[in-house]
Amino acid sequence: MPRRCSSFRLSSPPGAVTIISVKTNLRLVILADTHGFHRQLAIPDGDILIHAGDFCLHGDLSELDDFNDFLGSLPHRHKIVIAGNHDLCLERQPGESRSRLTNAVYLQDQSVSVEGITFYGSPWQPEFQGWAFNLPRGKALREKWDLIPEDTGILITHGPPHGILDSTMVGQNAGDEELTRAVRRVKPSIHAFGHMHESYGILKKGPTIFVNACICDAMYQPVRKPVVWQLK
Ligand SMILES: [Zn+2]
Repeated sequence: MPRRCSSFRLSSPPGAVTIISVKTNLRLVILADTHGFHRQLAIPDGDILIHAGDFCLHGDLSELDDFNDFLGSLPHRHKIVIAGNHDLCLERQPGESRSRLTNAVYLQDQSVSVEGITFYGSPWQPEFQGWAFNLPRGKALREKWDLIPEDTGILITHGPPHGILDSTMVGQNAGDEELTRAVRRVKPSIHAFGHMHESYGILKKGPTIFVNACICDAMYQPVRKPVVWQLK
């Protein structure tokens, strides 16, 4: 894994620096697609909680407020959140939404360094029925993935790459081909995502551990457990 140090730094805006204590053997708790059911979940202990988007069902600010309150009740020292296609408020009212998401670091095409590990988060996914953070396949998505820096240790996107834990109910691989290329370029240690409710799981391929952490199944029932991953 990437080396650790004691800095905690958000890439944008510049200058936001907080010093935290150093701890080895960090434990990640990864979840996605909770769709408002977060209070029904048993959240395991860990150091860094990651939510890979779709904490809302409808995308209202009231849902964001409730999720933020829930995050504030959790003991994890660091919480990193990105948006998904259901988190409409973060696209339509970005300033207001970000100002209310006070209990996590929100990443939207940006990095944060936590204990020397660079996390990069991005909400975009291929167009589907006019939801939030939709973009056409091809150039538009490629331009977003081109922003992912080479030093990314843990990549968080809402959608999966093509061909990896991205099967729909009818067996179609719906992940993004351009994201697959970006992951090959960046070679993160972990790529966490959700979005495809039918493809929860963990897969190691090449240098990367892929985690589809969808809590909800295809019927929007919160039947899966958060994924715990111990960094060594
Ligand atoms: Zn979802």
